[in-house]
Amino acid sequence: MNVLVLNSGSSSLKFQIIATDMERIQQYKDDRICRGEVEGIGGEAIVHAQYRNEPNRTMTAPLRDMSATLDYLVRYIASDRSGISEIKSTADIHAVGHRVVHGGERFTESALINDDVLKGIEDCIDLAPLHNPNNIRAIQSAREIFGKDVPQVAVFDTAFHHSIPEQASLYAIPYHLYRRHRIRRYGFHGTSHRYVAFRYRALRGLTREQTNIITLHLGNGCSAAAIKGGNSIDTSMGMTPLEGLVMGTRSGDLDPAIVSVIARKEGMSASEVDTLLNTQSGLLGISGLTNDMRELQAELKEHDDRRVRLAIEIFCYRARKYIGAYLAAMGGADAIVFTGGIGENSADVRARICSGMEWAGLQIDDAKNNETIGREGLISNEKSKLLAYAIPTDEELLIARDTVRVIKGEPHPS
Ligand code: AMP
Repeated sequence: MNVLVLNSGSSSLKFQIIATDMERIQQYKDDRICRGEVEGIGGEAIVHAQYRNEPNRTMTAPLRDMSATLDYLVRYIASDRSGISEIKSTADIHAVGHRVVHGGERFTESALINDDVLKGIEDCIDLAPLHNPNNIRAIQSAREIFGKDVPQVAVFDTAFHHSIPEQASLYAIPYHLYRRHRIRRYGFHGTSHRYVAFRYRALRGLTREQTNIITLHLGNGCSAAAIKGGNSIDTSMGMTPLEGLVMGTRSGDLDPAIVSVIARKEGMSASEVDTLLNTQSGLLGISGLTNDMRELQAELKEHDDRRVRLAIEIFCYRARKYIGAYLAAMGGADAIVFTGGIGENSADVRARICSGMEWAGLQIDDAKNNETIGREGLISNEKSKLLAYAIPTDEELLIARDTVRVIKGEPHPS
């Protein structure tokens, strides 16, 4: 089954086509046919597309909206000029899997999209006003292009965290606010946390129930999850992705009173402060330079800039604090798993986060840590009681696999 995986943003669309089915899933024989991204939808868009390991191709096209973008993409993929021999027409795309950001309290697992599910995703717009409308547009565009007979599946960022108990998901604010507005912790990056937890147990030959780990997704967005017995029991992102770890441009945790202090002192509205905390804070806000960890590390090496050093130190300290908190919440864990662009590639950040954690039985092996870049591997030494791994995430693969499983009515794994 050729599954088109779509991850839609406000003016961008990431896509992959992955050939998979129940047999391939069991044998790890999923086949990634092509991948790419469209940027600048709504104007003269830039389209990047890569067929297997061939060089990336870049094209431009005027694409007014999501529907025009998907139409362009599918035509390109099916055309001779793309060189993608597996896809000759829309009929060669057998299903569509969508990353959907917010599933609210209703969607605790991936769902086959019908009118009722679409309505459910619409009902969550209130919880994710910047994200869910884009996902809905992608679903509707795919319906227009492929027709109702091509099944579509929604895979929710929030679903993996549905198991978080109330003591961790409820905020200590008047309870009626939860009842009235569903204000609670939902958590995000669920597909990523779930994927690396699955890879961890595959690497160690463990069952889901034996999986007791802390996963750290450190990319441009960052979150930690406490996974006990295979279930998420706490996570650092909250009602929105703003809470928790320091991120590229997001502040993560802060004293909530700071919001009104900034509003008053800077003459800003609540929504302007919200934008400031989401887009101008984090690594970018502290360093005053960039949200890109790679650039910050290069800058630190070259100029030892004080604010750059501070940005990296605050980032790592916050992550370490969450590991400590989750060790307490879980009553101890067996391993820490790093993923995301920073977690997969920066041995330095991993070492900084884990430094001084010998008390918890964690000892990083410097050589292993330094050579495990962009690939799976154990990065702690033989004496370490708390293991540490780096595991590249693959949300698209999990979306493709869930799409097949849901269509085939297979029980939902995690
Ligand atoms: P993601 O959102 O998962 O794509 O991650 C993006 C972040 O990963 C950016 O801050 C990148 O600078 C960072 N990143 C990627 N490669 C490296 C690297 N080799 N060293 C440090 N940071 C990296």
